[in-house]
Amino acid sequence: MTEAPLFQRIALLGCGLIGSSIARAAKARGSIAGEIVANDRSAASMARIEELGLADRVEADPAEAVRGADCVILCAPVGAYAELAASIAPNLAAGAILSDVGSTKQSVIRDVGPLVPTGVHFVPAHPLAGTEHSGPDAGFATLFEGRWCLLTPPAGTDADSVTRIELLWKRMGSMVSVMEPAHHDRVLAIVSHLPHLIAFTICGTADDLADETRQQVLQFAASGFRDFTRIAASDPEMWRDVFLNNREALLEMLARFTEDAQAMARAVRWGDAAYIEDKIGRGRKIRRSLIEINQA
Ligand code: NAP
Repeated sequence: MTEAPLFQRIALLGCGLIGSSIARAAKARGSIAGEIVANDRSAASMARIEELGLADRVEADPAEAVRGADCVILCAPVGAYAELAASIAPNLAAGAILSDVGSTKQSVIRDVGPLVPTGVHFVPAHPLAGTEHSGPDAGFATLFEGRWCLLTPPAGTDADSVTRIELLWKRMGSMVSVMEPAHHDRVLAIVSHLPHLIAFTICGTADDLADETRQQVLQFAASGFRDFTRIAASDPEMWRDVFLNNREALLEMLARFTEDAQAMARAVRWGDAAYIEDKIGRGRKIRRSLIEINQA
């Protein structure tokens, strides 16, 4: 027997990698949404969403897209959330759940929280799943399978709505955990935002080298540099917004990293082989433990 859909109508605002993956997962599993309405910013993305058949209906106006939806999910870059929330607020149905997928959570609660009308339940969420690709073509139905989704409901959030968003992610194959927003932002700063900052920076540093050297960098890019370039291929607008909206935690982690990098530099300068070997060994252990918990 097929389960009844969790929501009658889900509206997705922003239908790039993450939004289109939700649309695909919901289509692939009938138990999630009776109807999917998609909205995106550019006419080109909207046309592509239609061509790919990702939604039952495509709406150019976000305020129209959310009309009558019992679940609305913001899937645009986090810097666009305040304006989007302001434009949709008057049309959100009483009892609807407003959620999101943004990579920063304190900023989302700061920007969106005050705009949520009484009677609408706001449940911020962040799926820890992604690739370096973006846009409606980049998504796939299995993106969230076996990945964590973190929920950061502000104090006093309606418990039933939290349970429904938890169920939504579980039906898309994710494991779900509830986390305090500030803690989320510190954890993500070290495991995701700082690695991206380092990848963008190292690619820029390599690119700044003289022509002759740059040629060699690209020609002989062995796995280390190649792995950085994969991460650095991520969407500039999305990552600009992440950096600007998790400023304090990111700067804190960058400062700690810089101290540790300086310690490594000192060990290299003074030939401290034991220190260097110990640090490399720790990295190796961390990689092994990720493989063991299926998160590599
Ligand atoms: P993406 O592939 O670049 O998609 C973002 C989509 O949002 C694009 O289709 C873009 O439209 C649209 N958009 C931008 N501004 C908009 C606005 N004001 N109104 C409506 N749509 C707008 O990015 P993504 O990777 O899916 O990221 C979306 C969200 O997921 C972000 O908040 C990000 O922090 C979060 N997230 C990303 C990852 C990841 O690894 N990529 C993982 C977890 C969470 P046009 O292209 O048509 O202009």
